Amino acid sequence: MRKVALLGSTGSIGVSALDVLGRLRDRFRVVALAAGGGRLGELARQAREVRPALVAVPGADDATRLRELLAGEPIEVVAGEEGLVRAAAGSGADLVIAAIVGAAGLVPTLAAVRAGLTVALANKEALVAAGEVMTRAARESGATLLPVDSEHNAIHQCLRAGRADEVRRIVLTASGGPFRGRTAGELAAVTPEEALRHPTWEMGPKITIDSATLMNKGLEVIEARWLFGLPPGAIDVVIHPQSVVHSMVEFRDGSIVAQLGTPDMRHPIQYALTYPERLDAPAERLDLLAASPLEFEPPDPETFRCLALAYRALEAGGDAPARLNAANEVAVEAFLAGRIPFDRIPAVLERVLEARPPGPADTLEAVLAADREAREAARRAVARETEGRR
Ligand code: NAD
Ligand code: MG
Repeated sequence: MRKVALLGSTGSIGVSALDVLGRLRDRFRVVALAAGGGRLGELARQAREVRPALVAVPGADDATRLRELLAGEPIEVVAGEEGLVRAAAGSGADLVIAAIVGAAGLVPTLAAVRAGLTVALANKEALVAAGEVMTRAARESGATLLPVDSEHNAIHQCLRAGRADEVRRIVLTASGGPFRGRTAGELAAVTPEEALRHPTWEMGPKITIDSATLMNKGLEVIEARWLFGLPPGAIDVVIHPQSVVHSMVEFRDGSIVAQLGTPDMRHPIQYALTYPERLDAPAERLDLLAASPLEFEPPDPETFRCLALAYRALEAGGDAPARLNAANEVAVEAFLAGRIPFDRIPAVLERVLEARPPGPADTLEAVLAADREAREAARRAVARETEGRR
């Protein structure tokens, strides 16, 4: 029986993970849940169903409220970053599903890595911000990082077809989002509602906006650099509107190995949970004939500038990716709140990146400081955008 801590249980990935875990009750027991304050009723319902020993929420008031909701249950409710860290690394779990959104997931995810646990990683922002710290900690502790992100999960599967020194490049596929084919001028007027309508995947709001700007693919390029130890020049992106080929590896002999499946996150979640074993499909299997034809086209970096900015941050190194990620979280929030237009998201990021040369990102403290500083800089850039429009 493997003991699982699920961080971000009320989110899109969290709910899919609980579905997978529910089908595999003879193999996995959930010992801890953690989530933000947004959907406390749902979190209480989940806790009553899976009966973990521990539930963590960031806010003290939320914890008090959750204790009331769970009165009479033998479940301990803990609060704050300390509580999240306990859920990740002090709950007896040997497998942690990291599915909190954004840099908020960094400290608990790193705690699981430092404790030498197996980490099924959906929270790409944690690795983007602290790739150096996280991968070094994994080497030192013996932790295993298994990618849940569908592209990286696909690459992990494809890499089993050859040796690491035989890889020429990897190709991450991107759906292109709801605005594929639009011109830069057409992006100025798109609304949050339009941007939240993803053509192939159903996901949380932040990653859905990132998919519309292509920043999600940019974050994934950086994520791939750390997961697979490849230089930026060996990580390519291709637009594939059907979201059926989840990603590919090209080996030195020219063979391209691809992984295909339906766009349902339960597939990569189950793979990460049961690796190296494969079990029966947890969701609909792919109908190849219905999925045809499969198309591939190049990304348009002039219209979708976020992808190029991510490569630039990766090349710059140090804390540039952490700062880019933090600025992006602020810019996406500002767009969703109607404070900046869609096509000014990259302008905010560019201003933050250019504000100073990269510093070191070799300790958690340095990464957290860079994250805070970039958020401040991004808030100022957003304010300037808002003033400029008045
Ligand atoms: P979501 O918004 O649906 O869920 C986020 C979860 O994180 C919720 O449970 C929320 O309560 C929790 N959370 C937010 N802030 C928190 C905080 N400060 N402390 C504790 N918990 C907090 O997001 P999602 O779509 O499930 O994405 C989660 C992560 O997985 C993201 O990093 C995303 O990039 C990645 N991912 C998601 C998908 C997908 O299909 N949804 C695919 C690939 C990768
Ligand atoms: Mg992805």
